[in-house]
Amino acid sequence: MDKLIIVGAGLSGATLARLFADGGKDVTVVDKRATIGGNAYDYVDKNGIRVQPYGPHIFHTKEKEVFDFLSKFTEWNAYEHKVLANVKGKLVPVPFNLTSLYACFPKAKADRIKKILTEEIGVDKHVPILQLKQHENAEIREFAHFVYNNIFYKYTKKQWKMKPEDLGNAVMDRVPVYVSYEDRYFTDDYQFMPKNGFSEMITNMLRHPHIRLKLNTDAAGVLSFKDGKIYLEGKEFNGVVVYTGRVEEIFGYSFGALPYRTLKFKVKTFNRSSFQNAAVVNYTTSHRFTRITEFTKFTCGAKDKTVIVKEYPKKCKKSDMPYYPIPTEKNCAQYEKYAAEAAKYKNLYLLGRLANYKYINMDIAVLNAMKMFDKINEEYVFDEE
Ligand code: FAD
Ligand code: UDP
Repeated sequence: MDKLIIVGAGLSGATLARLFADGGKDVTVVDKRATIGGNAYDYVDKNGIRVQPYGPHIFHTKEKEVFDFLSKFTEWNAYEHKVLANVKGKLVPVPFNLTSLYACFPKAKADRIKKILTEEIGVDKHVPILQLKQHENAEIREFAHFVYNNIFYKYTKKQWKMKPEDLGNAVMDRVPVYVSYEDRYFTDDYQFMPKNGFSEMITNMLRHPHIRLKLNTDAAGVLSFKDGKIYLEGKEFNGVVVYTGRVEEIFGYSFGALPYRTLKFKVKTFNRSSFQNAAVVNYTTSHRFTRITEFTKFTCGAKDKTVIVKEYPKKCKKSDMPYYPIPTEKNCAQYEKYAAEAAKYKNLYLLGRLANYKYINMDIAVLNAMKMFDKINEEYVFDEE
């Protein structure tokens, strides 16, 4: 093993490994899965359709630095994501916009709401639903209640088993209401899909003479952590360990398992070129699943077959994949206990969605890895290799 060990070959681990390798450092990356890419992993099925088995992943970012870095490892297809919500059988754009407004209300009423929204909130503004619900104008509050009930309440209950209010702003602010006809799910400057998928991009990141990749290797089998010291196969290890797995694993779940939501994915292939009218349709008022994604609509274009996935949210047991940290105050306080334990190890760094217990997108995983690269270089002196 090298003086730098990264646990996890997802986007966080792969970014950090590549930055160190480009700087001439030898890095060992271990992952317990048989595949690279963590949850961004994808594969091409027997019909030539790219499938994302850990859920739909769409790349978008405001960060030029992140886009430029990833562009070294992939070509891109331009792709602007659009989502429809199935509101009681009617398909309307989400985020809820002025088109959705006219689809859901009679014209005179919609004209009235549009006028008030543009006067009180402003043209082209994006406003979080929980803020809209508290607006001082009673007509805006009435409109907000409609959107809340038809777009957010049931979807959020299915996804999180919690009410939007109890979940907090960070999650709900991801999908605001648009006071415009903007119909893209994201408004970031960079919206692309890697031309040959995320797996190829991340494979290219990890393909480097200074990177040794060990798949099917659980960190628990090689690393142990005790009284501020890290042990590698039983011997004290003075190099750096960057951990992107669940933080609780390091400390034997001593403060309990951090709560997560998981998903059951049901994938189905159809002998026709199209299944639905958009890449993603959200089921905001009905059904047990939250959304249906049709992978062929991402970038593949029409084929004679199509593949969809339905997402069924559920409580995450220890044996399930931990997909979504649940960022309530209580859970974050529980996380902080683990973070405080980790801080006792001068050569241990926590990074990524699991180790930081943060609901982050791929671009932020990359950005955080870039920051971690600088931090480790500032704090740790590597022996000459
Ligand atoms: P992960 O991808 O979870 O990688 C962690 C890796 O560590 C895994 O490969 C795991 O096997 C490995 N590991 C864990 N424990 C151990 C151990 N003990 N030993 C060895 N290896 C270990 N982001 C977007 O930007 N756009 C999207 O559209 C999007 N959609 C998403 C949809 C779903 C359903 C989910 C769950 C996430 C989505 N994300 C999306 C978020 C994206 O998946 C994450 O931001 C990104 O994968 C984080 O990368 P990571 O490396 O931190 O974590
Ligand atoms: N959400 C909702 N209805 C929608 C879309 C989103 O209630 O039609 C809420 C829901 O709580 C969801 C959160 O907004 O978990 C964030 O949505 P996003 O699409 O960003 O979720 P992700 O793609 O990360 O699962």
